[in-house]
Amino acid sequence: MPGTDNAAETGFDRVLAFTIPDRDARGRIVRLGPVLDTILSAHDYPTAIRHLLAEALVLTALVGSLLKDEDAQLTIQAQADGAIVDLLVCDYRNGELRGYVRHDPVRLARLGTFPSLTALFGNGYLALTFDIASSGQRYQGIVPLAGDTLTSACQAYFAQSEQVPTLIRSAVRWDGKHCIAGGLLVQHLAEGEEGRERLHVQLDHPEWEHVATLAGSIRADELGDTSLSLEALVWRLFHEEREVRVDPLGPLERGCRCSAAYYESVLTRFPEAERLDMRGDDGLVSVDCAFCSRVFKIEV
Ligand SMILES: [Zn+2]
Repeated sequence: MPGTDNAAETGFDRVLAFTIPDRDARGRIVRLGPVLDTILSAHDYPTAIRHLLAEALVLTALVGSLLKDEDAQLTIQAQADGAIVDLLVCDYRNGELRGYVRHDPVRLARLGTFPSLTALFGNGYLALTFDIASSGQRYQGIVPLAGDTLTSACQAYFAQSEQVPTLIRSAVRWDGKHCIAGGLLVQHLAEGEEGRERLHVQLDHPEWEHVATLAGSIRADELGDTSLSLEALVWRLFHEEREVRVDPLGPLERGCRCSAAYYESVLTRFPEAERLDMRGDDGLVSVDCAFCSRVFKIEV
């Protein structure tokens, strides 16, 4: 169970990186437990939104942990004007995760417990933004929010926007008290190991088809099975490969970068008359962080 002593052993809140050198493949596998409970505890989300955010956080951990530069940030944003969910934002930086979902609870309640992605977002889009702090580079890819799940939309992002053959699977479960979620991402790096320049991309490469078949055999119950370590899962999938290298990455935590100083700097950009209008009875402007629900009282 989350929070118990065997958390590290069974792989809660950590990412395992792996490579299959003979197949030019790399992957990430993740299982989230207590970190999800912490993030979700800042909100009182209905079941469908809780599941959606948990899935988005799994994707954020999988893709974010591909970043090699310190302080590099991945932001995953799903957006749809006027939809039941009009904004979902998650980000990852240095092993820290956070996220929130803006939604209309009244319209959501009419949909039942597990509405489809289309019912939630209508014609939305998914944006992945990479901020590389060391070089000041920022790049973004946008794809339609198509398919059955956020996971399939994210997989489509890699095919369409980065042209990297990628397989992604995720699973979320809620046992009434705790949320447990897992995910797997496997990619083919054409003609090279991780980190090398890609010379070309061949989407139907036989090595990739082999790896994708093995990786695709993972089941949702395995991803969420807390008695199976991440290493055991990778072994199950790829034990017939000549060589699989694994590299445990640092632990994942909930991390929010909100601060009074940050909100103060935002507020100073407003004209004075508007700032005065925002003041409450106590003469302070009250701002709450959408990610962690902390409330800040700012003097302006
Ligand atoms: Zn915050």
